[in-house]
Amino acid sequence: MLVATRTMWEWTEERGLEFQSLRLRRRHDRRWGVKNALLVSLLAASCVVLSVQAQNPGAVLYEGAQLITGEGGAPVERSAFLVANGRFSRVGRAGEVQAPPGASRVNLTGTTVIPALVDAHSHIGYMKDLTSGPQNYTRENILDHMRRFAYFGVAASQAMGSDFGELPFLLREEFAAGGHPGLARFLTAGKGLAPLVEIGPANMRHAAYAITTVEGARAAVEELSRRRVTLIKTWVDDRGGAIAPLAPELYRAIIAEAHARGMRVAVHATAAAHAKALLRAGVDVFAHMIVDVDEELVTLFKQHPDVVVLTALGGPRRIVSAPWISPPHPLIRETVSPAQIRRLQDRLANQSAQAVEQGRKEWERLVRSIRTLAAAGVKIGIGTDGGGQTGDQFVGWTMHTELENLVDAGLTPAQALTAGTRVSAEVLGLLDLGTVAAGKSADFVVLEASPLSDITNTRRIARVVLRGHEVNRTPVQR
Ligand SMILES: [Zn+2]
Repeated sequence: MLVATRTMWEWTEERGLEFQSLRLRRRHDRRWGVKNALLVSLLAASCVVLSVQAQNPGAVLYEGAQLITGEGGAPVERSAFLVANGRFSRVGRAGEVQAPPGASRVNLTGTTVIPALVDAHSHIGYMKDLTSGPQNYTRENILDHMRRFAYFGVAASQAMGSDFGELPFLLREEFAAGGHPGLARFLTAGKGLAPLVEIGPANMRHAAYAITTVEGARAAVEELSRRRVTLIKTWVDDRGGAIAPLAPELYRAIIAEAHARGMRVAVHATAAAHAKALLRAGVDVFAHMIVDVDEELVTLFKQHPDVVVLTALGGPRRIVSAPWISPPHPLIRETVSPAQIRRLQDRLANQSAQAVEQGRKEWERLVRSIRTLAAAGVKIGIGTDGGGQTGDQFVGWTMHTELENLVDAGLTPAQALTAGTRVSAEVLGLLDLGTVAAGKSADFVVLEASPLSDITNTRRIARVVLRGHEVNRTPVQR
């Protein structure tokens, strides 16, 4: 009986939404109105519960949780917030926010609510169990990744310059039109813009535009503009002296052309010298943490206060410390195959003492940079660089290790959460994500314990709600 009622209710709700949008388009069609009014009244008459709920269809009041809004400041200890039509409609304290007639109530006492997380730098669609490469780049695999992100409480993720073909744009439109409820939103930078030496058949940059001339750089940006890409990706890295990085006149052309077209530029660059030149050229986003930050660089950041630095700490950090893999955290067991888990365990166990020592030094350099940038008030967002070639950056999971990495580096849990919610949403232009506030999309995570006392509590996920839909969190391992 319960099942039948739910099914009918869901069906009615769907039809209701359908009716609403059709009503806007076809208000003049009187025959249509009469026919459907009859259908609605028949349904309402058939079930009293439905007629009560229909006053505020789908509205839910969540009460009692500690609420971290993502806007900074102290958490709201006994919060209440109302979700209706996929959005937060009211946010406040328990007792102050009333449930309208017909709304259902969810008691969240003893839990903590955070805004859903946002991963501002990933590579979507390449990883599939033990393999990684363009052969896996299919609709099914991309949607599988977005399901994994959702499982981990991530509301959106930005594929950073590894997409190709029509598929990313089709999927972007489907999400923008409200498709794929219960999955994280897929965002694309389209093809990246890389120097020829970065492009190889086996790496993700096979998808990139090879940028060799100023004219070519401008043409690539123009093409991305026509595809309505708003954030583009380029690479300026000499890979430890192994290659010649993208020349300044080329990245200056990319940035100037992008800005002229209202687009922003994210760059893979980690060296302070490149970072300085890129800031002077007007770059908008650093897709990785920069090392060896000095006073001159801090001054340049202060002159460009809107520039965001993303973290991407997973690779260097796990060389030094990855307590979550041995034994594997339950969330990893639920989402990653035993073979893939074993591969990472073996890789870490078989590292040479020299590699670990090198990793420790690298991590300490990163920590110094993070502390200096944070102290100077530079905006830090979270990008995991997950889904890359080695297959060790488990999709979705890395968002939680990244939060831990930031706290290990010296940020407070509250600062790390702001980085992974509000700042990451801002940098992607997702103005309806990143905080729990009236009018924003209802994307949030309910945790069994507060991450303010221990950041690893972000892994104690009780439920995930994206765009007002509760995510089905059955394990997503294949
Ligand atoms: Zn990347």
